[in-house]
Amino acid sequence: MSHTDTLLALSHPFVALLIAALLGGAWRFMGRPAHLLYFIGAFAGYATGLILQITLWPADLTVNIAVTGVLYGAAAFLFASGIAQLEHRHLPPWPSALILAAMLAVRLWSTHDPAWSGLRIGALYTAVTLLFLLALWRIRHLARGKTLERLLFGFLLLGTVSLLPRVLLTLHAKSLHYGYDGDMYWVLTQLSFYLFSVGAAVLLVLLTAFRTIAHFSLVSERDPLTGLRNRNSLLGFLEKSQAKTERYGLIILDADHFKQINDRYGHPVGDAVLRAMADILARHVRKMDAVGRIGGEEFMLVLPGATREEAEQAAARLQAAVAEQDFSSIAPGLRCTASFGVGSFGRDVPFEAAYAHVDRLLALAKRQGRNRIGIDAPAPVDAEDSGELPPLTAFTGKDSFSTMNR
Ligand code: GH3
Ligand code: MG
Ligand code: MG
Repeated sequence: MSHTDTLLALSHPFVALLIAALLGGAWRFMGRPAHLLYFIGAFAGYATGLILQITLWPADLTVNIAVTGVLYGAAAFLFASGIAQLEHRHLPPWPSALILAAMLAVRLWSTHDPAWSGLRIGALYTAVTLLFLLALWRIRHLARGKTLERLLFGFLLLGTVSLLPRVLLTLHAKSLHYGYDGDMYWVLTQLSFYLFSVGAAVLLVLLTAFRTIAHFSLVSERDPLTGLRNRNSLLGFLEKSQAKTERYGLIILDADHFKQINDRYGHPVGDAVLRAMADILARHVRKMDAVGRIGGEEFMLVLPGATREEAEQAAARLQAAVAEQDFSSIAPGLRCTASFGVGSFGRDVPFEAAYAHVDRLLALAKRQGRNRIGIDAPAPVDAEDSGELPPLTAFTGKDSFSTMNR
């Protein structure tokens, strides 16, 4: 083989190394996801094996075939592990080890008998196919996932299955030259590698990028302690749903004497109670309702389509659920109640007005003794509140939602 041929052949591992480098960049800038490391290792291992096979270094054929066998096997194993790692799964260790050991054994045996050279390549392809199929089986639910997940899954499956006819072809070949000879077999291998690895790398990077973005937007919208929505997310929810929803029920609740719980049991117990309360709230509302934590021990619920009366019924259910909850699993004998403010808003009543009103009803519930829903009492409880609680219908809005995100 001439030097020009060798150089041309080396473009194959060069592309593999280039893909490994690009995946390295993606790994660095996308929060260092573990699965990309496996793919980087796979492309680097495959490239190294190819370079050794093309340059026939080490020159001893048996040693060369053994070394490249280990490198190709490792590359296939890493690639398959990367596929499984997409969904934080692992390859089954024993079947994988068995497949790799069988492939290496056939490969080494082929060095003694040239008639086995077809089997040598057939064994490698079979091992790759089996490992990839094992990995794809582990993440088969992605076949029903999001568009990009389905696309990547389908692409990997197609690429894997397309290896099978090539296994059959190599089994028919009496003896195949080892090293690079530029014949149809190598050209086919190169072409299918370019198609498969470039396609897979592009889809992988795209999927990783989308997942990273989705993760960060979820993190920015969630309260880290309870996993509920945060204030911004609740406002975003309103903005998105305002076009199709005429009115909303609004509930604000605040845990009673929470400072005492912290003082008596400690902050970690207080945190656990807040998480348990969040669970109660999430369990007692409809799927379409939005539940968020808007302050230390203060929560807000937005109920699309609910009237004020319906929101009051929902608040009564929540109040009872919290009061009846036994928090003994968190700390023996621990109980906690909450006070509520309830109202509604929509096209005729702006959110800000309803929020201010409901907040005052919550303060009223606290003054009226806690563990209750603040009622728009005709008679003020103390001088400070005199005449300060107009009925909700007195709030009329120009544009209910336009100022919400300011
Ligand atoms: P009230 O019935 O009037 O609401 O009394 P309270 O003690 O609940 O109200 P106060 O506003 O005096 O205290 C709220 C307490 O909530 C004080 C603060 O330490 C606690 N808190 C706020 N955020 C967190 C949190 O994330 N974790 C824990 N454990 N406690 C929190
Ligand atoms: Mg409180
Ligand atoms: Mg509070």
